[in-house]
Amino acid sequence: MSEKKGCTRCGLCCTFPDPHVMVCPELTPVDIGRLIEAKRPDLIVRLGDRSGIRSVTVTTHSKCAALTTDKDGKAVCSIYEFRPEVCREWEAGCALCQHYKNLARRKL
Ligand code: SF4
Ligand code: SF4
Repeated sequence: MSEKKGCTRCGLCCTFPDPHVMVCPELTPVDIGRLIEAKRPDLIVRLGDRSGIRSVTVTTHSKCAALTTDKDGKAVCSIYEFRPEVCREWEAGCALCQHYKNLARRKL
């Protein structure tokens, strides 16, 4: 998710269509340090020598445990200032983002 222009905060880039995804997204050592600084070690899942943010099952899909919504139902990253590198690199308006936005529109 991004706070940049073009993000409609559909939240689909923080969501997976599989209800059994255990971890999203993957964390680097720097990311882990940020989450500890944010006092959110509860979000960290370790699987062997890899780590990620815990995901939660919501009916038929999974979502990042840091994803929440505001009073208007818009997606919000609850750790935005401390989000992992892979989330910082995500570009609002990229081809996949456009695809997700179209999917979200169809659900309305
Ligand atoms: S898919 Fe695009 S519009 Fe939807 S939350 Fe992510 S960046 Fe924003
Ligand atoms: S950390 Fe934030 S931006 Fe990254 S997947 Fe989770 S909710 Fe989305």
